[in-house]
Amino acid sequence: MDIFNKQESNVKSYCNSFPVVFTSAKGCWLTTEGGERYIDFLAGAGSLNYGHNNAVLKKALMDYIDSDGITHGLDMHTEAKAAFLTALRNHILEPRQLDYKVQFTGPTGTNAVEAAMKLARKVTGRTNIVAFTNGFHGCTMGALTATGNQHHRGGAGMPLFGTTRLPYEGYADIDGLALFETMLNDNSSGLDKPAAVLLEVVQGEGGLNVASNEWLQKLRKLCTKHNILMIVDDIQAGCGRTGTFFSFEPSGIEPDMITLSKSIGGYGLPMAVVLLKPELDKWSPGEHNGTFRGNNHAFITATQAIESYWSNDEFENHIAARSKQVAKTIERTLKKLPSLFVQAKGRGMMQGIECKNGDIASAISDRCFEKGMVIETAGPNDEVVKFFCPLTISESELEQGLQIFEQAAVDIANKLTRKAS
Ligand SMILES: *Cc1c(COP(=O)(O)O)cnc(C)c1O
Repeated sequence: MDIFNKQESNVKSYCNSFPVVFTSAKGCWLTTEGGERYIDFLAGAGSLNYGHNNAVLKKALMDYIDSDGITHGLDMHTEAKAAFLTALRNHILEPRQLDYKVQFTGPTGTNAVEAAMKLARKVTGRTNIVAFTNGFHGCTMGALTATGNQHHRGGAGMPLFGTTRLPYEGYADIDGLALFETMLNDNSSGLDKPAAVLLEVVQGEGGLNVASNEWLQKLRKLCTKHNILMIVDDIQAGCGRTGTFFSFEPSGIEPDMITLSKSIGGYGLPMAVVLLKPELDKWSPGEHNGTFRGNNHAFITATQAIESYWSNDEFENHIAARSKQVAKTIERTLKKLPSLFVQAKGRGMMQGIECKNGDIASAISDRCFEKGMVIETAGPNDEVVKFFCPLTISESELEQGLQIFEQAAVDIANKLTRKAS
């Protein structure tokens, strides 16, 4: 452990909550060097929707490596990339009657967001981008201007400009869309007509706030009417996390651009893309560049993930069943421990429970860790305990994790009662 404290920058964070050394992982289980097993309810912050070392994905990757398949390809044509584009088209886009071109960006979420913001500005000739309260879009400069969290923004070291912040659905009981519409129609509102709006359908880091279908439809209408592009950041909520491949599917809206990363590579390998309406493709060659846009290993596992999990509705049904299981536990513990909890948050396998404050959430997370589970918090004050296990988790494994949570919560409630008396 010493080596980390001596050698690694203070910028590290998850490891502070879970100070052990992990050696291996399978499915939803992490194993430490001491042989302790933890059930993983963090799942690479949503990068491991198909679980650690998923056997089917691993086999495809091993076979590919074994055949000396291209590893690093810049943006050259490769067989692996063709296979990914074909799988995305056949199993994701066409069945949903969606038409998008694919931009491969540098392999991080934040880089895809940078690309989408740049393209929106280039296409419209406007600079302003509307982002929402509690939105999280990454930590490089452009994406950071759209991120709400002050802790992250503070790291910029320079003014963050080019975005206007509006209230997300439910924020401070303000009707953000009515406000947006009024401001767009008022020459004196001070709102520069935006190139785009950028939003998450379920806010991952911001505390599992959900935009309703009606809200999304209204925003879509408003954007179309005023010729403003709509960018959905589906980096965390996409790839099945909310129950459908794209988080916005239940609303029936079509964004102009979609950013995907985290679980798109399928195996936890770095990969990011922007899906863009064909008419928006005004890029000139190499204008948004990146050395690692061609992580072909990720293309292999991304393709295999799409083919194995998204070619029929079996996986979606599995996610729906597991989501119900999570919701049940949340409902029960809300009723059982009103001294700790405020309300249920999120949807699909992106659910959580809002605690009265961040200290309670943190105490529950710590207690869960003592009991063999890795689980994190989200929200402006880290007050939401976030259930984020791999989507491939079995019914009994999920039950195990949920029971650890429930017991941990009871322990914390008892501790607080003892303290009070
Ligand atoms: C994680 C995340 C990002 C940033 O992705 P990185 O790979 O960490 O740069 C952007 N948007 C959302 C919604 C995210 O959850």
